[in-house]
Amino acid sequence: MNQYIPLPTLPTPPPFDWEGWYGAVGGRTIDIPEANEWLRKIFQEQYPRFDGDVNPAQRSFTSPSEASTWVKGLARLHGADIVGICRVEPADVYAGRTVPHRFAIVVGARMLYDAFVTVPSKEAAVECLRVYHALGETVIALASDLRTAGHACTIEHPIGDSSVLHIPLALKAGFGELGRHGSIIHPEFGPLFRIGSVLCDLDLACDEPIDAGIGAFCDRCKACRIFCPADAIPDERSSDHGLDPQGNPRYIVDTGKCFPYFARANYCSACLATCAYQHKRWATLHDGSVGQYPTVPFGTVPPAVDPDIPHHPYPQLRRDSASPHHR
Ligand code: SF4
Ligand code: SF4
Repeated sequence: MNQYIPLPTLPTPPPFDWEGWYGAVGGRTIDIPEANEWLRKIFQEQYPRFDGDVNPAQRSFTSPSEASTWVKGLARLHGADIVGICRVEPADVYAGRTVPHRFAIVVGARMLYDAFVTVPSKEAAVECLRVYHALGETVIALASDLRTAGHACTIEHPIGDSSVLHIPLALKAGFGELGRHGSIIHPEFGPLFRIGSVLCDLDLACDEPIDAGIGAFCDRCKACRIFCPADAIPDERSSDHGLDPQGNPRYIVDTGKCFPYFARANYCSACLATCAYQHKRWATLHDGSVGQYPTVPFGTVPPAVDPDIPHHPYPQLRRDSASPHHR
């Protein structure tokens, strides 16, 4: 007899039509067999393993802090390089989506700098997808442990159709600060990592956003802006799109310029590899030596496109102030 309780199926809007979007900006032309194989494994082999039944015998903890220590240890055991915890707030969820849990366990996995010494490149594209797959295994294993301990949870994979915005969650969970290039910079690991989450209701002690001087560094540095082949990274912060967790206006990357290039040029990533934060102490090679500054071949840049098709069906709720949870 099955001793586990099946989870209810929640109503949810359909996933965003990424292929239609790419078609409207001129088409996705990246076709790398090794990258395609990682994508196949993610969508065919990992997605069917997202759900699981929950053990009715629930493990309890003496405090949220003890529970956080337990889940963070498991996340690291399953391959996470970075792990943090925060509450899920309405501004973290795409409109129209329902998230049935209060806490996010946010996990990050590093990409290896060796693959990014030339960007855009096939090596960089394959490394992105390899880490998406590795992080998929991390969130699947962590969710399985939670369910075995009697705690229902939901997997938010780092790639594909997600109900939550990974970057705001990771910022609240203390992963780092938002860089000029729109990605998070971790104080130790720099910007070369990917993010996924497991959502649950187990009472957990939360982490806090950090201020390590990274945003201030960006205000004086423009390396990513200079090396962006599509000229998509801004000179100035803008107050038109809400605030970051520190309460500062954000740098807004022009996706109408970035995405058409990104969709043709091996997922680009030039802004990550050229990021100058911390004098590239994070950019070490397999043997521990410091990698060279990346080469960015400036080729033909497709025209900027902001296609007149329905963008995302779940418009992001505006975050007008620093998260009240963290003030
Ligand atoms: S991914 Fe490439 S095109 Fe997009 S912002 Fe970064 S450097 Fe620019
Ligand atoms: S290259 Fe410089 S400005 Fe751009 S994100 Fe990195 S530190 Fe910030």
